[in-house]
Amino acid sequence: MSAIYNFNAGPAILPAPVLERAQHEMRDYQGRGMSILEMSHRSPEYETINAEAAERLKRLLDIGEEYHVLFLQGGASMQFAMLPLNALPPDTSADYILTGAWAEKAYEEALRVGRARAAASTADNSYRSVPSQADLALDPNAAYVHITSNETIQGVQWHAWPDVGDVPLVADMSSDILSRPLETQRFALIYAGAQKNLGPAGVTIVVIHDAFLRRTSPNLPVMLRYVTHVKNRSLYNTPPVFAVYMVNLVLAWIEEQGGLAAIEERNRRKAATLYQVIDASDSFYRGHAAPEHRSLMNVTFRLPDETLEKRFVAEATAQGMVGLAGHRSVGGIRASIYNAMAQEGCDALAAFMTDFMRRNG
Ligand code: PMP
Repeated sequence: MSAIYNFNAGPAILPAPVLERAQHEMRDYQGRGMSILEMSHRSPEYETINAEAAERLKRLLDIGEEYHVLFLQGGASMQFAMLPLNALPPDTSADYILTGAWAEKAYEEALRVGRARAAASTADNSYRSVPSQADLALDPNAAYVHITSNETIQGVQWHAWPDVGDVPLVADMSSDILSRPLETQRFALIYAGAQKNLGPAGVTIVVIHDAFLRRTSPNLPVMLRYVTHVKNRSLYNTPPVFAVYMVNLVLAWIEEQGGLAAIEERNRRKAATLYQVIDASDSFYRGHAAPEHRSLMNVTFRLPDETLEKRFVAEATAQGMVGLAGHRSVGGIRASIYNAMAQEGCDALAAFMTDFMRRNG
């Protein structure tokens, strides 16, 4: 197999050693004569995986008993609804900070459930940045403040968390969870679809503070209550066993890399490799995000015209660099360089970008 560099936004690249381990264990999980896909979710084998994955996540996020880790289904999109259903009582309102397409989606869903306000929006500058503290019109009585830590489509990321006072802070971290050390204690709830930095599609991670959990509504269908899943350690019904098994392997891989500080250092270097080419290109490549708000995970940029963008994607694909077309809603180019992408992949893309510009600039 020749080298493929996978820049897909999600489902996305997974660490090769994780895939190899899963392949190795596929037919015979730990000498049980069957795969993990075929075992009961009530088996001791799966109990161990479920507990290990939650423990690893807690270790990496540096949290203790005050937080609960859940493995749910329905994607981050289900959390857009589950969060307000649980945490937005009828007599209250929630604040949403709009930084791109995913924050907008979360906000729209909250409005379907209850009352919510846009506490700030950077839509006017095409979502090139996150708002400054001074631009936040926060409601001190809000049920929570919701942010999107990394906008996967626009390629914009929070690099300093907003100060929201005593209001619980909630974040959709789907596209940058575990890409850098996190002051988890600042958050009442974090959610993330696994299919970017954590594993395959099919499982969504929710990390919820116990005090926030205690405020949630009991008047919901049982599957929609966070409390149900906390009480049952994510085993109320049949969980996505294979996805959680894979997440557990990815978390072990992150620990082996030296944890989040080491991962962040690698991610910074990878992103800088690409942004340097953009900045040195005399506007042949135009980065979407304002430099101080650039994402370390999704590098978004334009070329002088769409014909060149199409050619860029086609030629890159022919050279084994796949998944570079921007999201269908915004066009352009997007290189998603999650944790599992090696520096080598960014070096290859940077070399291609420089060469492409020389030939077409
Ligand atoms: N939030 C963000 C930041 C995302 O990037 C995505 C998916 N790309 C979603 C939410 C939606 O996730 P899902 O497809 O798991 O519902």
